[in-house]
Amino acid sequence: MLHGYGGHILRVDLASGQVRREKTDPDYMLNVIGGRGLNSTRLYDELKRDVDPLSPENLLLIGVGPLTGTLMAASAFMTISGKSPMTGILGDSAAGGHFGAELKQAGYDQLIVSGCSEKPCYLYIADDQVEIRDAAHLWGRDIWQTTAAIRRELNDNAVQVAAIGPAGENLVKYATVACNNSRMCGRTGMGCLFGSKNIKAVAVRGRGRLTVADPPGFLELCRELDQRIMIHPEYDKRNALGSTLLMKALNGIGILPTRHFQQGLCDYVDQVSGETLAREYKVKNRSCFNCNLHCSRYYLTKDVEAEGPEFETLCSYTSRIGSDNLEFGLKMNAFLNRMGLDSLSSGETIGWAMECIEKGLLTKDDFDGLDLSWGNCQAVEQLLNMIIRREGIGDAFAEGTRSLARHFGRGSEEYAFHVKGLDMICGDPRGIKAFGLTYAIASRGGDHLRAEPFFELTERYDEAEKRWGIREIADRLADKGKAVLVEHTERQALLTDCLTLCKNIGLSMDIMDFDFASHLLRAGTGLKFTPEKVDAALKAVIDQDRKMNIDFGVDAAQDTLPKRFTSEPLKEGASKGQVVPVRRMVAEYYKIKGWDEKGVPKG
Ligand code: SF4
Repeated sequence: MLHGYGGHILRVDLASGQVRREKTDPDYMLNVIGGRGLNSTRLYDELKRDVDPLSPENLLLIGVGPLTGTLMAASAFMTISGKSPMTGILGDSAAGGHFGAELKQAGYDQLIVSGCSEKPCYLYIADDQVEIRDAAHLWGRDIWQTTAAIRRELNDNAVQVAAIGPAGENLVKYATVACNNSRMCGRTGMGCLFGSKNIKAVAVRGRGRLTVADPPGFLELCRELDQRIMIHPEYDKRNALGSTLLMKALNGIGILPTRHFQQGLCDYVDQVSGETLAREYKVKNRSCFNCNLHCSRYYLTKDVEAEGPEFETLCSYTSRIGSDNLEFGLKMNAFLNRMGLDSLSSGETIGWAMECIEKGLLTKDDFDGLDLSWGNCQAVEQLLNMIIRREGIGDAFAEGTRSLARHFGRGSEEYAFHVKGLDMICGDPRGIKAFGLTYAIASRGGDHLRAEPFFELTERYDEAEKRWGIREIADRLADKGKAVLVEHTERQALLTDCLTLCKNIGLSMDIMDFDFASHLLRAGTGLKFTPEKVDAALKAVIDQDRKMNIDFGVDAAQDTLPKRFTSEPLKEGASKGQVVPVRRMVAEYYKIKGWDEKGVPKG
C-alpha cells in the first residue's frame, strides 16, 4: 500500500473524452518527490518540444505533494504546469487554499489534461467519478460567480474549485487560475492555458482517507514543524501582515519599486503599507488548509471586500505605478482576482507605458487616448478592462510587456522589465544581489520564487561562514558567494514545491531543510527517501528543466537582467550606487552547477 500519496494519476483527454486512472508508481515518485518535480518530469518525458503553447498538444498538469492533505502544516499547495503561453518556455504556478488537499483526498497525485474541448467545459472529480461537464452557462462569468455557480449546481459547498475568469477565456497571456476565489496561480499564464483548452474550471471533492507509513513518527515530526513555525522570530509580524510587511521593509533598504523602478524609495510608503492596510481595512485573518501561520487577510473598504492582497499586488498597484491610493490598490486586488489577471504582469505593462510616456517615447495617442500618467487610477482601471476583453489597445497589452514593447519599438524595449518574457517581480535587485541572480537564471523567467535567497538580508555573518564558508553571503550588497547561496536555495525552493509546502514557511522563513524533509517523507510515505536521495532528485529536476528550456530556445544570453539593473545605479537610499554584476554572477553559478560556460548541463 502506498502511504502519503493519493495513489493515482488521472489522465483526461478533452478531445476524445477519454478518462484514465493509472496507479502512482513509487519508484517514479522517489525520483521526482511530487508537486513541481512531478509535473516538470512529466513534461520532460511527454511534452513535444515544438508545440504551440495554445495548441491542443500542450499538456496541462496539476500536481500535489506526497504529504499534502495530511497533518503536515502548510502543505496544501498545488502546482499547475505546462508550456507557458506567456513565455514559450517552462511554465508553472502554485497556489494554496484547499484545492490541493481535496485533490489528494480524492485519491490523485497528478491530473494530466491533454487535447482541447470543442465547447466550454469543466471537470468534476469526485473520488472515482470523473465527468467532463458543459460550462456554456459559466463562460463569461467571473471567478467568484463561477465558483459559487459550480458549488450550487453540485449542491456541495465543500467542493473545491480552481477556475478562470474572462481574462483566461479571452486568452490574455498572463491570465490566472484561482483556488478558493483568491489563492492565485498567478504567473506564466496558466489561466490562458485553461482557456486554450476551453476549460473553465476543475471542481474536486475527495472523501478518501489518507494514511501515513509511521503515524507516531510522522505526528512527532509534524509537531516539530508546528513548533518551528510558532517560535519563529517573524511569526507575529507575518501573522499580522502577511507578505505586505515587505512594503516598508523593502523601502527601508531602498529597493521598493517606485515609478517603475526609477526609485527605490517611496516617500508615501506609510499611506500604502501593510501596516496601514491592517489598521484601516483588515477584518480578520484567513488561512490555507492546515496552516498555523494564517498569514492571509480579509479586508473591507467602501468599495470592495476580498482576501489579500499579497505584497506583489499591493506594490504593483501602488508605488510601482506611482499611486498613493491604497483603496484603489485594494479595489484592483479584488477586481483582478475576479477577472483572473496576474497583478505583476499587468502592473508591469502599465508601469512600462507610464515610463514610456514620461520619457516621451510614446504618447497618449499610442494608447487609445488614455492618459497613462503616474498614478492615474481611472485610466488604469479603464485599461485593465480593455486588456481583459482584448479591446482596442488592450489587445496588445494582453500579450505581455515583452511583446508589447516589440510592437511599439521606438526605444521602449529598454523599459520592458522582464526576463525570458516573464515580468520582473517587485524587489529592485540592485540592493539584493542574490535575488538579482535568481531573476536572471530562474527557469520560468523573471522570478524570485525559484530561489528566494532571503538569507542575504539577515546580516548573520557567523552563520554564513558556518553554513557556506563565506561571510559575505549575509551581506545583501555583496555579490561574492551569492551563486553559492542561490544554488542552495534553488534546491530548497524546489523541495518546498515538490512537497507543495507554502514558500513562506519552507523558504522565506528557512524552516525546511533537506534532512528534516527526508524524515518527513520517510515517515509519511514509507519510501526510502534519504537526504542524499532527495538532493539527487532535486538536482536532476533542475538540470532537466534547464535542458527542456534549452530545447524551447533559451540560451546563456537570456540569463540576464534588463539594462537598468546592470548599469543604472540607484540614486538614493540604503542601496545608493548599486547595480548587479550579473554576467560574473551567472558564470559563477554555471560553474557551481557543473554546467558548461553556455549554461548547458553536462550529460
Ligand atoms: S503561510 Fe499564508 S499562504 Fe502560506 S499556507 Fe499559511 S496561510 Fe497559506
